[in-house]
Amino acid sequence: QLDWNGKRVTVAGLGVSGIPAARVLHGLGALVTVVNDGDDERSRAQAAELEAEGITVRLGDGATLPAGTELIVTTPGWRPDKPLFTAAAEAGVEIWGDVELAWRLRGPDAAPWLAVTGTNGKTTTVRMLASILEAAGLRTAAVGNIGVSLLDAVLGEETYDVLAVELSSYQLHWAPSVRVHSAAVLNLAPDHLDWHGSMEAYAADKGRIYQGNQVACVYNVADKVTEDLVREADVEEGCRAIGFTLGTPGPSELGVVEDLLVDRAFVPDRQKSAQELAEVSDVQPPAPHNIANALAAAALARAFGVEAKAVRDGLKAFRPDPHRIELVEEVQGVTYVDDSKATNTHAAEASLAAYDPIVWIAGGLAKGATFDELVEKSAKRLRGAVLIGADRALIREALARHAPEVPVVDLDRTDTGAMSEAVREAARLARAGDTVLLAPACASMDMFTNYNKRGEAFADAVRALAATGDA
Ligand code: ADP
Repeated sequence: QLDWNGKRVTVAGLGVSGIPAARVLHGLGALVTVVNDGDDERSRAQAAELEAEGITVRLGDGATLPAGTELIVTTPGWRPDKPLFTAAAEAGVEIWGDVELAWRLRGPDAAPWLAVTGTNGKTTTVRMLASILEAAGLRTAAVGNIGVSLLDAVLGEETYDVLAVELSSYQLHWAPSVRVHSAAVLNLAPDHLDWHGSMEAYAADKGRIYQGNQVACVYNVADKVTEDLVREADVEEGCRAIGFTLGTPGPSELGVVEDLLVDRAFVPDRQKSAQELAEVSDVQPPAPHNIANALAAAALARAFGVEAKAVRDGLKAFRPDPHRIELVEEVQGVTYVDDSKATNTHAAEASLAAYDPIVWIAGGLAKGATFDELVEKSAKRLRGAVLIGADRALIREALARHAPEVPVVDLDRTDTGAMSEAVREAARLARAGDTVLLAPACASMDMFTNYNKRGEAFADAVRALAATGDA
């Protein structure tokens, strides 16, 4: 255990991770200075509160390293190329993120971590995993990027047998010494490249999750990069590489045989070569990418010794979070599905693959993405498309190139009310048996506060349509 007494710690950033970190470190006796770029009304109020508790806060200057700093604890979102970090590197000062801090502060009997990262599907998989662990009678929580903060889980009153931990690529970047029981990388597609600098750097940060794994490194057979990351990782002796696949599993893999999820990796009974875990229809929604999430969750649970029945019970009990391929309502034979959380093309591709035929509602902020591949892959399932938001022209052009026969309604508006019109237009294009799918492939901030608000606007419009025949 570290001696924090009198240690000069700089906390980078006021915010959801910075403020609790500052308080915890101050409580341990460290001399804490919080540095923050912004100097607005909100940060001034937060600073006043912290100052009253005896924590120093420096507003409007997140770039200069306070003299005497021995350690930086940073908000994971801060970019690694910031001058503060360059100065820290030159001065030989270590930099930890919130996850590293939680890791270092956990007690000697702390619960092991089962960790999940990937470009898409993290939250879903971690929730499925927690549900499975609960079904096995274990005391657990879904923590990290979701729900309970890691710091709270590690320092709180509650005791756990095992934690289901969601880790973002940012958090992994700043978590050099974290060593988990078992970990999974679900998939890797270009995302957040501006932050990491390159696809290689992004992959390397994700790959850190395997570093020092004790029991299993779970990878996606269909995504070779994830397997490469396992191969490059330095793991504990005896730690196994476990693949998951939507096809028939090989040895040391979990996969799908007919309508069953099957485990060929953790089969203690020598008489048997495979263990049935659950039926595909136990997974909600039973879309292919979601079956993959379920297999990854099952692999981590099995690595922890959970029996097959609990995998099945846990998957059956799992309900997806809102706005992730959420069934809103059926209106006149047309199914309306809200996947507002599909904020990038890789995510949208997954939900577009799950339905046929589709009237697709898309658009928003593209964040530098291109849409050709997505449109090309989905073209034959599209009944029509309704485009909204700032960067809709990019999608319209991709549709013109790869799906010229698909009717497109291009709504030239970015106000919140545009969603009602989009739903009305989609209803006009749809026929009985079709799915109207909100899978924007874009961020929402041009029109909405966040993806939740966008999904709610969609659901409200659908319910209005159901009630009155008009969205
Ligand atoms: P994350 O926490 O990584 O953002 P979520 O579980 O919240 O992931 O899912 C976000 C969106 O990504 C979903 O709405 C869905 O469209 C898509 N998605 C979920 N799982 C996968 C997957 N395994 N592969 C591709 N896309 C996925």
